[in-house]
Amino acid sequence: MNLILFGPPAAGKGTQAKRLVEGRGMVQLSTGDMLRAAIAAGSELGKRVEGIMARGELVTDEIVIGLIEERLPGLDGSGGPIFDGFPRTVAQAEALDAMLARRNSKIDLVIRLRVDDGALKARVAGRFAEFGRADDNPTAFEQRLVAYNRDTAPLLPYYREQGRLTEIDGMASVEDVAAGIDAAIADAGV
Ligand code: AMP
Repeated sequence: MNLILFGPPAAGKGTQAKRLVEGRGMVQLSTGDMLRAAIAAGSELGKRVEGIMARGELVTDEIVIGLIEERLPGLDGSGGPIFDGFPRTVAQAEALDAMLARRNSKIDLVIRLRVDDGALKARVAGRFAEFGRADDNPTAFEQRLVAYNRDTAPLLPYYREQGRLTEIDGMASVEDVAAGIDAAIADAGV
């Protein structure tokens, strides 16, 4: 199964992806995690993206498409990928469809976690106090929401028109969101 977990930053995508990895043998492909690993490793890529990420802006489509493309061949035999934080632009979504088509595959399901901006800001304020992730500071987070609304939200009609989108209330408890995801997967019959 090829699954996209879709939603604004801090909607709970990472938490839910980890559960699907444990329960279904799927593989989480988080471009944010890959980019943070590049920064931690001090690589050329890490140096290129560090400032952009700290400001809460999107890195180029080319960079993240390349990261995903590298990872797809290693997934054969697994429960399939969970795309977490990718795609974030229509160009990325089109590139993902093309990459999967070349592998005789396709996105089976896009699950959107709906969380309102006020709840997101409250969650991230708590997360920033606990972990101090640079782009969780209030100014950078505001910018991440701007990028989501401007560049990423337009993907919703893209997937809705293709009949691949299911929406879940991401304000519910972690357990209820998980149950909603399981039901959506069962409904999709994949
Ligand atoms: P995340 O952990 O998914 O919230 O991503 C953290 C940051 O990494 C984002 O604010 C962007 O700067 C960058 N990033 C992650 N994924 C993407 C993507 N698909 N397209 C562009 N930038 C991304």
